[in-house]
Amino acid sequence: MAVTASTAPAIRLENVTVTYDRHPAVHHVSGHFAPGSLTAVVGPNGAGKSTLLKAMVGRLPVADGRIDRGGLDMRDIAFLPQQAAIDRSYPISVIETVLLGHWQRAGAFGHIGRAGIAAASNALAAVGLEGFERRPLSTLSVGQAQRALFARVLVQDARVILLDEPFNALDARTIADLLALLQRWHGEQRTVIAVLHDFDMVRRHFPEAVYLARRLVDWGPVDAVLTAENQLAARRMAESWDEHADLCHAGDVGNAA
Ligand code: ADP
Ligand code: MG
Repeated sequence: MAVTASTAPAIRLENVTVTYDRHPAVHHVSGHFAPGSLTAVVGPNGAGKSTLLKAMVGRLPVADGRIDRGGLDMRDIAFLPQQAAIDRSYPISVIETVLLGHWQRAGAFGHIGRAGIAAASNALAAVGLEGFERRPLSTLSVGQAQRALFARVLVQDARVILLDEPFNALDARTIADLLALLQRWHGEQRTVIAVLHDFDMVRRHFPEAVYLARRLVDWGPVDAVLTAENQLAARRMAESWDEHADLCHAGDVGNAA
């Protein structure tokens, strides 16, 4: 499928607040991911990074504000959750894992023909897992399993790709291979958003960054965002956070819309 920047809409966050039991985990975040942009989402533990991504793919409701996906179908947004959230003991083969990407694109009753199987095998080859088709996912190493999940994203062929800490606990070789794939997606003008901890990697490979500490610290070109000043601000915001604060409404801090 040909993907061009002009066909991938911007994703706009307008004053987005996401809560768990009315306690806000992400608070009044506004900004937009430009079509074809490559953005790192950074911030301390518990900053709401995973929460924000889940809200963007519709797995969590937005309590206040809105997320404008520019008319994009949810199937056109691929999401790779944090590894801790993935049950790898599930009895599923590697090829079935990858084919889930096909279903995500075609719908649960989409037909998987010979072409679909071939695409899944090609995707496995592209991530260095040629011949792993019939292996149970549970027998793979952490790095191999993450390669298989990247193959699934490949097969989904989505215009927007969200990855939550995709390189955590991986060996250097796997990180390099998967980072190359991520850059290939960027080259294909897909919109790519990844939660990352390694600031050096972010500086080297990501043009844009979102710095989150429950609230937005900063959003823009990476060198302007990953500053010592913002790091200090993020730490202060994280430390001063009231875990039990109630939901406040957009009007309390001025409405961005
Ligand atoms: P990050 O990904 O930046 O580490 P998270 O989005 O996972 O942060 O979490 C943000 C906040 O929301 C944390 O305080 C966390 O404890 C809380 N949280 C995350 N998931 C849940 C949940 N399912 N129920 C209640 N609170 C949650
Ligand atoms: Mg997280």
